[in-house]
Amino acid sequence: MIVLKSSQDLDFLLTKLRTGNKKIGFVPTMGALHKGHISLIERSKKENDTTVCSIFVNPRQFNDFNDLEKYPRPIENDIIMLTEANTDILFLPSYEDVYPANYDEQEINLDGFDNIIEGQVRPGHFKGVAQVVKRLFDCVRPHRAYFGQKDYQQTLIIKQIVKQFNLNIELRICEILRENNGLAMSSRNRRLNKEQFNNAGFIYRALLQLKEDTKIMPLNRAINNAKETILKTKGAQIEYLTVVDPQTLIELKTTTKDNPGIILVVVNYFGVRLLDNMYI
Ligand code: AMP
Repeated sequence: MIVLKSSQDLDFLLTKLRTGNKKIGFVPTMGALHKGHISLIERSKKENDTTVCSIFVNPRQFNDFNDLEKYPRPIENDIIMLTEANTDILFLPSYEDVYPANYDEQEINLDGFDNIIEGQVRPGHFKGVAQVVKRLFDCVRPHRAYFGQKDYQQTLIIKQIVKQFNLNIELRICEILRENNGLAMSSRNRRLNKEQFNNAGFIYRALLQLKEDTKIMPLNRAINNAKETILKTKGAQIEYLTVVDPQTLIELKTTTKDNPGIILVVVNYFGVRLLDNMYI
């Protein structure tokens, strides 16, 4: 694996590959890698000639300074995992490289997706995500880019960027990888202690239950049942749990066969934000 710390070096190498007609797949991450990230790398490897992974903890997408400070950065272990997954290139830019003083930062129109649900509880978060992804897309100029369904609202933000700037990038949204107990894999899970980690499958169970319940009762009752299940767990608070239209993110009052919706949830479990979702 080639590790590059400057966008100039990256550009030099990728330009050569592009002229050789090699397809480039891109997996942007913030590091603290787990099998969920690696599944994106594996998919990219299958579909492209060269796979680039970036690790950059983007300060602009953290609305909570504490969260940024506490964000895990186990870079040695990340390099081992990426090497084992046969990643071709790791891009490890500095803040100055991602946001150079002379960078012509264009206004990104997120079509209101940045102010609702996750965006409402984390003001500025999606603007920061959009800025970093746009800049990384400009650096890598991939043929395909890989994102997890885990961050569902984020995938709509990325689609909006591709549309607005008419980028020639195919987006691949990949399924959520889960622990054995159903907990969605996340870099933040390492902040849970062993007991909390083992118990944290309750969110997945509540999502499954909600999905089943929508078949036999009105949506609001199904949602209330799921909320009750979650709140029964010691240490759990719900930031939001909502069923929305997968395209517009507008809250659904009922689910239908044509539009069964997607459940979006954030549970704060002993101070750790656990984000998850499930199509109904
Ligand atoms: P992050 O490092 O958290 O910014 O995540 C980098 C990419 O990995 C994003 O596209 C995430 O949606 C994706 N990702 C995170 N967790 C998972 C997971 N459990 N399964 C699949 N993809 C994931």
